[in-house]
Amino acid sequence: MADGGPYDLAVVGAGIVGMACALAAARRGRRVVVIDRDAQANGASVRNFGFITVTGQERGAMWERARRSRDVWAEVAPQAGVPILHQGLVMVARRAEAVAVLEAFLKTEMGEGCRLLAPGEVARDHPHLAGGELLAALWSPHELRVESRQAIPRLAAWLAASHGVAFLWGAAALSVETGRVVTTKGAIEARAVAVCPGDDLYSLFPERVATAGVTRCKLQMLRLADPGFRLSAGVMSDLGLARYAGYAALPEAEALRVRLAVEQPDHLANGVHLIVVQSANGSLVVGDSHHYAPTPDPFSHQAVDELILEEFADVFARPASPVIERWTGTYASAQDRTVLIDAPAPGVRLAMVTTGAGASTGFALGEEIVADLLSEGTTA
Ligand SMILES: Cc1cc2nc3c(=O)[nH]c(=O)nc-3n(C[C@H](O)[C@H](O)[C@H](O)COP(=O)(O)OP(=O)(O)OC[C@H]3O[C@@H](n4cnc5c(N)ncnc54)[C@H](O)[C@@H]3O)c2cc1C
Repeated sequence: MADGGPYDLAVVGAGIVGMACALAAARRGRRVVVIDRDAQANGASVRNFGFITVTGQERGAMWERARRSRDVWAEVAPQAGVPILHQGLVMVARRAEAVAVLEAFLKTEMGEGCRLLAPGEVARDHPHLAGGELLAALWSPHELRVESRQAIPRLAAWLAASHGVAFLWGAAALSVETGRVVTTKGAIEARAVAVCPGDDLYSLFPERVATAGVTRCKLQMLRLADPGFRLSAGVMSDLGLARYAGYAALPEAEALRVRLAVEQPDHLANGVHLIVVQSANGSLVVGDSHHYAPTPDPFSHQAVDELILEEFADVFARPASPVIERWTGTYASAQDRTVLIDAPAPGVRLAMVTTGAGASTGFALGEEIVADLLSEGTTA
């Protein structure tokens, strides 16, 4: 045995989804071990915006998961020493068709707590957006922003220190069966196993992953030097209204898509939309793009970065400050599902978020997976 088991739950993957499972089980008093092949988390969970979004998530289960996950983040972040850097979302609308989407959105249950700001209100509340040619903006109070590359290691340290969760780093899980995980550092006995491998489609249960139609999505990300202003909330634009299912599935989004296809075809072809959030040192994290393939190339393409920066300049009515960092990230993606939760063996669950929303929905997903495993009686 690799480490002082047996455990009630072994989790493969120390990204946000794996840590969410660990938290949910530890809160129920279970003994938990988290296994990761890397020396520290290095996947999507540390490469993302750290933007915990509710507004814009797919209507129904994902939106509900995001609401629950946001509450867990708000509760856990101060305990784990994770600063909340800003709150809320300003969804800038620069086209009449975009305003129509926002108006329709506000009539749904998802509009709860949100409101439409007139240009004068945007200028008053968000002066850095005042110069742009906007027609209106949606204000959502629900979102939180954390610095993922800091938050994820701190969550792991907090789970270990406050909840007694064991972490086995640098151990690749080679096989999983009921009650047992075989790793490169030995075997671990556990009554239940949650496999949360992010976008690793091939190491564990590859046939299940393939049957579910999961591929990968690559995103390009930028960090810009401190622009000299302070965001009080994350910023998005018309392109996001055509992309995020909470808006994009509304009938009113079709007219926006038609107009964007004429005015911004290259943005649409590269899956570019704008998210801007700010870090404690004033730098901005700006993205992103979406390219799909089982093995996407690992390169950042300048032409794609320029599309992102062009949208930034239009929305903020100023050129972007210098790019000080570039990176790519990948996440699991499927056309017809937002999550894959499978039960490949009794007491074993395979969990992947198959859309770019794991930071926003992971904590709720972890609670669901652990409740499901417990109801099976394997960890009783
Ligand atoms: C650039 C980018 C921006 C994003 N922005 C946002 C955002 O703002 N908001 C949002 O909600 N979501 C966002 N997402 C999506 C979000 O980051 C992901 O959905 C989420 O991080 C997935 O978490 P995970 O734990 O499933 O995967 P990961 O973070 O990839 O973690 C999986 C872990 O499993 C380990 N692992 C895999 N296989 C094995 C094995 N066999 N043995 C041992 N260890 C293994 C890996 O080493 C890894 O540490 C973004 C994603 C990217 C890439």
